[in-house]
Amino acid sequence: MKNGSLNEILLLSEEAKNYLPLLDGRPPERACIICGGGIRLKFLKCHGFNFSRCKKCATIFCNPRLSEEESAIFFNSTYYMLLFQNIAKRIEERDGLPLDSHLKDSALEWVISQVTKARPLKSMRILDVGCGTGGLLYSLHKIFGVSGFGIDLSDQYVELWREYGISAKVQRLSDHLEEGHSYDLVFSSEVIEHVPDPIKMFEELVSALSPAGNLVITTPNIGRIAPLFVKNILGWISPPNHINLITLHGLSLLAKQFAMKSELRTFGGDGFSVSSWERSFDYCTDQSPNVARYEGDTIVVPKEIYAAGGQIEKQYVETVIIPTVRGHNPKSHKLPGSHRGPCLRARLIRLINNNTLGRVLLRFLEQVIRRVDGKVRAVAILGRIS
Ligand SMILES: [Zn+2]
Repeated sequence: MKNGSLNEILLLSEEAKNYLPLLDGRPPERACIICGGGIRLKFLKCHGFNFSRCKKCATIFCNPRLSEEESAIFFNSTYYMLLFQNIAKRIEERDGLPLDSHLKDSALEWVISQVTKARPLKSMRILDVGCGTGGLLYSLHKIFGVSGFGIDLSDQYVELWREYGISAKVQRLSDHLEEGHSYDLVFSSEVIEHVPDPIKMFEELVSALSPAGNLVITTPNIGRIAPLFVKNILGWISPPNHINLITLHGLSLLAKQFAMKSELRTFGGDGFSVSSWERSFDYCTDQSPNVARYEGDTIVVPKEIYAAGGQIEKQYVETVIIPTVRGHNPKSHKLPGSHRGPCLRARLIRLINNNTLGRVLLRFLEQVIRRVDGKVRAVAILGRIS
């Protein structure tokens, strides 16, 4: 089986188990972590994690939650590195982008047209928080001829930044702000769905703004999509990776809490490079070589990739190697013979890939979904939008 999405979801369901004991006995939040509204406490489960749903803004969030320190272990795990490299590789294959930028084309153009009504982009100081590979900064430079600065918690992209001339630093936002910086345009693209304390992150983002500055947030738009579909087919609800699935209404309430104006829009595959409906299904049928493959009940991870977190090779180790929670002690796993819950998607993908009728049905489903709703990403511009 050569399937990126399948690999990722199976590996994540194994990795996630390592974090569950940390939540034993931890009390859940009693109100929405975005708007403070009442919640349906036990809305759904994924990889053993419980998710609540806000009755007011319909945001879905993991509850109880990992602490910042515990999340940091996950985001520095070998698993996460592999996942990200795999996604970045597919983006490069498909879009020809040397670097990963979620926000692109029509969505990026819309954002820039909104924030440049009062003053030119060239006069703005720009920051990208959670800049990852630096793809957004690269796009801004290439398309609009402006330079910005990026910060990220992971040091795995330093070489890429150097190679593509991107100004970025491995630094926490709070530490960056202590140095006295302020910015006219702050991006935080595809970050808020991952963080344990979105309000705290939001406070920091707002304090990075100059008086007339604007903040641009992008995140998966769960508002218009059935949660169970999002969980099982798209895999967006993916603890401990995606833990906050925020709606447009939630984003507008968040802006109000900080006395900011908000301009909200949704975009589909024309504005985002990953995880539109169409592309999600493309990934499901991806036949390109990937970081791991599935054989019966066993996931086979290339030895070199596991060891180096690096390039894709053709040699494989014939055992399942999944990093443990601390990332030090690789241990072998056998996956359970029957996959339930989050692995419904894995089973579906396997069925589709091994079956001509399945592939025909998939193409049909793609067409239907493309017509029904391409609005898979929410983009919010907050601040004094002129
Ligand atoms: Zn809410």
